[in-house]
Amino acid sequence: MQPDSTHAWEIIDRAEPPKRAAAERVADMLEIYSHYDEETAREQASRCISCPYPTCVDGCPLHNRIPEWLALTAEGRFLEAAAISRSTSNMPEICSRVCPQERLCEGSCILNGKTEPVSIGAIERFINEYAFRQNAVETAQAPHNGLKTAVIGSGPAGIAAADQLCALGYEVTVFESQPLPGGLLVNGIPSFKLEKTIVGRRIAMLKDRGVTFRLGVTLGKDLSLAELLRDFSAVFLAVGAQQAKPLGIPGENLPGVLPALPFLIQKNVDFPVLDIPPIDVKDKRVAVLGGGDTAMDCLRTALRCGASEAVCLYRRDLANMPGSRKEYSNALEEGARFQFLTNPTAIEPDERGEIARIRCVRMELGAPDAGGRRKPAPVPGSEFTVPADIVIGAYGFDPVPFPPESDLGRIQCNKWGGMVVDENQMTSVPGVFSGGDSVRGPSLVVHAVRDARSAVEGMHRYLTAKTQ
Ligand SMILES: Cc1cc2nc3c(=O)[nH]c(=O)nc-3n(C[C@H](O)[C@H](O)[C@H](O)COP(=O)(O)OP(=O)(O)OC[C@H]3O[C@@H](n4cnc5c(N)ncnc54)[C@H](O)[C@@H]3O)c2cc1C
Ligand code: SF4
Repeated sequence: MQPDSTHAWEIIDRAEPPKRAAAERVADMLEIYSHYDEETAREQASRCISCPYPTCVDGCPLHNRIPEWLALTAEGRFLEAAAISRSTSNMPEICSRVCPQERLCEGSCILNGKTEPVSIGAIERFINEYAFRQNAVETAQAPHNGLKTAVIGSGPAGIAAADQLCALGYEVTVFESQPLPGGLLVNGIPSFKLEKTIVGRRIAMLKDRGVTFRLGVTLGKDLSLAELLRDFSAVFLAVGAQQAKPLGIPGENLPGVLPALPFLIQKNVDFPVLDIPPIDVKDKRVAVLGGGDTAMDCLRTALRCGASEAVCLYRRDLANMPGSRKEYSNALEEGARFQFLTNPTAIEPDERGEIARIRCVRMELGAPDAGGRRKPAPVPGSEFTVPADIVIGAYGFDPVPFPPESDLGRIQCNKWGGMVVDENQMTSVPGVFSGGDSVRGPSLVVHAVRDARSAVEGMHRYLTAKTQ
């Protein structure tokens, strides 16, 4: 088979990247996938037919130039391929690991329906890791333009904005309330999906280019908006949406009922980020409430920490579950159980005040709601209980409200707390921009990167107009 054949997809099957066996991977927190070898990467890239109107590009929020770097990969020109992939993404080695490609680029690949889509994510990861190994990850840096900018928050939106601002010649200071930079890339997404060294490598690159990180500094508490606007020409707020939604059922305040993030942080970060007592799930029955990616991350983390059982209780069915199908099958392989159409109504203690069981009701799905998802309703008389020792709530997140005493209240927010921005990602306060989860609510890494890139374009236009 010639790698440049336009019919390669008819004879070469899609190959998944090597994945460690479930029994091996639940014994540690390391990534479960590794890279293709060079030959497989070339062969897999050759399955792309270089569509004249590539639907994969439309499916990618960053409009990555996918067919271009696939064609170069098929020819073995890996460094050129990686350079093109970096031209539209500030962290392709991270997106390739955590993007739900089946809903984005790969879900839009023209080969769907005929055969399996091109394995875009695995090839993106291969070429970018290849470039890192060759020490060939160049980053753009314009000469300093004399203007200072501030980025608040160091998650993917903050990292991408800092990178883009550097490339345009701005001086950048990143303020982060946590002692460790990375946002949910470090404090949310578990290491078995994204090892922390991968994020650390990006942060180190920013530091090498002169970006200053001021860790342990919280806007609204240690620093006011007025001080920022005095010291910096423009500000990008990338503070995320990390306030856990309450469970809203009796028993939610019992000891042993935990929100997802503190649990994930404690088990994934070798650093005392949170001042909370150790959460021990060894030999315990862990129930996770919710059906998103966070729920699956909690199940899989609990199994790695020795839980005797990890069960997900979700009120809709598998077809209507928001979590990624890839992560669902990985969780199943690792021993997680799923109880669909199950709505928890109360968490009940035993005589010692410790969690004993979760009272639930069976659900059935009715007509689709305005968003197209079928609405669940309780089946009368179908109450039952699920035994549990630890309950982890993963019902999603909202933006953290601004401290009432701070001057951040000047920024207009919508009814669920997200910052309102215009087409330049600028908030109601001139010179203050925002993006990522703090604007759109809990979303994806790739959306945070896209917002940051749009916001930096907006900041650049705003500052150029102001300084001319
Ligand atoms: C458990 C979990 C798993 C996920 N898995 C995936 C996945 O597999 N794939 C995917 O694409 N997405 C995933 N997501 C979603 C993704 O992580 C987020 O959409 C993304 O991180 C949002 O980026 P952000 O930069 O807007 O915010 P964040 O990553 O939340 O970063 C915000 C940063 O701002 C800091 N901050 C907040 N307030 C202040 C303040 N006042 N002053 C200073 N700093 C402040 C915070 O400490 C934080 O570091 C997951 C989310 C969770 C919770
Ligand atoms: S849609 Fe699929 S086949 Fe077409 S260019 Fe994109 S990856 Fe290649």
